[in-house]
Amino acid sequence: MDKLNNKIRGIIGNCSEAIWSVADIAYSDYKEVYTKAIVIAQSYNCFIINEAYDEEQYHQIMSVAKITINEKISRLSRLFSQYRIKNYIPAVTQSDESELVAPFSLKYAAVQAGLGWIGKNDVLVTKEFGPRVRLAAILLDYPLACGSPIGKSLCGPCRACVAACPWGLITGVNWELTTKRAELLDYQMCNKKRSEYVKHKSRKHTCGYCLLACPWGLNKR
Ligand code: SF4
Ligand code: SF4
Repeated sequence: MDKLNNKIRGIIGNCSEAIWSVADIAYSDYKEVYTKAIVIAQSYNCFIINEAYDEEQYHQIMSVAKITINEKISRLSRLFSQYRIKNYIPAVTQSDESELVAPFSLKYAAVQAGLGWIGKNDVLVTKEFGPRVRLAAILLDYPLACGSPIGKSLCGPCRACVAACPWGLITGVNWELTTKRAELLDYQMCNKKRSEYVKHKSRKHTCGYCLLACPWGLNKR
């Protein structure tokens, strides 16, 4: 077990670039086959704020994080297969276009693993990197020790994301485990505005004003 844990740590890397933990996924649709999920939050490794936005730089940061985390997840999958541990990499994309829900919610798994909480703008916020992370997970049927779920927001009185959304879509409600997404923001309209933004501004990435406004993690610069 220790040997395996060390190998997992070796693949994921040190905590200045990524944080990770394990979630019990007894709540998920995959519970008949898999019991745990390793969830990784890979830092964008460079900070960008609304006032200094640069499309090419943002694209570069996002691309590097995506490639890096995908490589880590693939390496973990190969490692577990070597140990004959059943594993599965869940899809990141949404399977339900009307409700905008992915088959396995990385955000919810990250909360269950204790990596962070859901911010007022409905994104995962970590103490270490704020919302400037890319998430990925691998499901396992193996008894790894789990992290402690986070059940309450640490946003406090901050309203930076509420003020940053040009369309006023964020309600300002502080998240708790029972909070529904629709209580936090108008997610259908957010999805529409993000798509329009990419099209009309010829950008590779959606607006993300609310994400870039978040103060968490900026002190790590
Ligand atoms: S992603 Fe854009 S449209 Fe959606 S809540 Fe954030 S700022 Fe508003
Ligand atoms: S900007 Fe403020 S309110 Fe919004 S997610 Fe970050 S800490 Fe929470």
